Amino acid sequence: MIRDEDRIFTNLFGQKPVTLEAAQARGDWVHTRKNLQRSQESIQREITQSGLRGRGGAAFSTGRKWGFVPKDTAQPKYLIVNADESEPGACKDREILRHEPYKLLEGALLAAYAIGAKVVYVYIRGEYAAETKVIQRAVDELYAQKLLGENILDTGVTCHIHIHQGAGAYICGEESALLESLEGRRGLPRRKPPFPAISGLYGCPTIVNNVETLAQVPAILKRGAGWFAGLGTAHSAGTKIFSISGHVNNPCNVEEVLGIPLRELIDTYAGGVTGGWSNLLAVIPGGTSMPLLPKNICDTLTMDYESLQEVQSGLGTASVIVLNRTVDIVDALVNVAGFYAHESCGQCSPCREGTGWMLRVLTRLKEGRGHIRDLDNLQEVTEQIAEQTICAFGEAAAWPIQGLLRHFKHDLEARLGADVPGRVR
Ligand code: SF4
Repeated sequence: MIRDEDRIFTNLFGQKPVTLEAAQARGDWVHTRKNLQRSQESIQREITQSGLRGRGGAAFSTGRKWGFVPKDTAQPKYLIVNADESEPGACKDREILRHEPYKLLEGALLAAYAIGAKVVYVYIRGEYAAETKVIQRAVDELYAQKLLGENILDTGVTCHIHIHQGAGAYICGEESALLESLEGRRGLPRRKPPFPAISGLYGCPTIVNNVETLAQVPAILKRGAGWFAGLGTAHSAGTKIFSISGHVNNPCNVEEVLGIPLRELIDTYAGGVTGGWSNLLAVIPGGTSMPLLPKNICDTLTMDYESLQEVQSGLGTASVIVLNRTVDIVDALVNVAGFYAHESCGQCSPCREGTGWMLRVLTRLKEGRGHIRDLDNLQEVTEQIAEQTICAFGEAAAWPIQGLLRHFKHDLEARLGADVPGRVR
């Protein structure tokens, strides 16, 4: 379990004032000048050595990602704060935006400095209207205190931060779709390569980092890479905010070390599964795009990148959705499939056609109108979508259904229509 002194987000629940003065009293914006006097390479190295991985779901090494930005270019460079949190089950960035905006903005400044960017855009989900006001107020305060703008703290460093509100499309959380949207076009993912680090916003080198990732940067630079790497597990360093929802007694966000057992996480912070642990049916461990896991796997599961990969799921955004035995698991997955069918941007046919097809077949199966061959067809279609599309949305749509087929096929078989040859009972 996390020790209190290792918590990075000390105002996650907003119990303390959200002002620059209060944030500085909690340790934010205190070491900024010292960090801006370090070399850019030493900051990148420290973040790489800390083992920090992107907290938005992709889990790529943050320091290595920064290292892809070319150093010998005359083009401007950009840092984008991806605050387009939209994954069903995820509500962690919202809490940072609401209650820890100064920590995030300090992280953004330090990251921008490390990659040589003078301009930062915070791309915030349109529905986060209240959070937009909070972050704008924080930006204004930092400008007023000359902690943003030109020659910050007499270090010669320049950094301007602009806030941009999205229009509510899930796909704009995908980094290249976000860039399209920011440039004023429809949020359609771009083909890669080139990756944004080489050709991103306005064709210039751009790094897109998640809110939580950037908000962890100041603490790592303050306490050292060794401290952060010493928390969690060998390949899942540090702390993480878990959003726990669904059939638990006390849905919540909580910061914990990676590698914490799932059961301990749910029992300690979320008041346990409604009806008790024995009443657990399944858990979606990382937001709806991650395959669900049945109770027998959850019994001993630890919440880190490598353990979840071993059981053919993923940590994703660490949004833990708990489903107890009152749930119709097929109906739950119809709901998930409906979301992805609605949010597909429509650019590539496997995703555009496949998401709607999966929804229709799952609905049919749920209602007992399915055929035995639907099960194999469903599996095949998920395989024709995953990794066959322009962006990772294909996997996000296919993986949850693959999880259902992997662990609850008997549930689907039990609903096959009574008049169908080959019906399984
Ligand atoms: Fe759009 Fe889906 Fe293709 Fe991504 S995978 S580009 S969301 S159609």
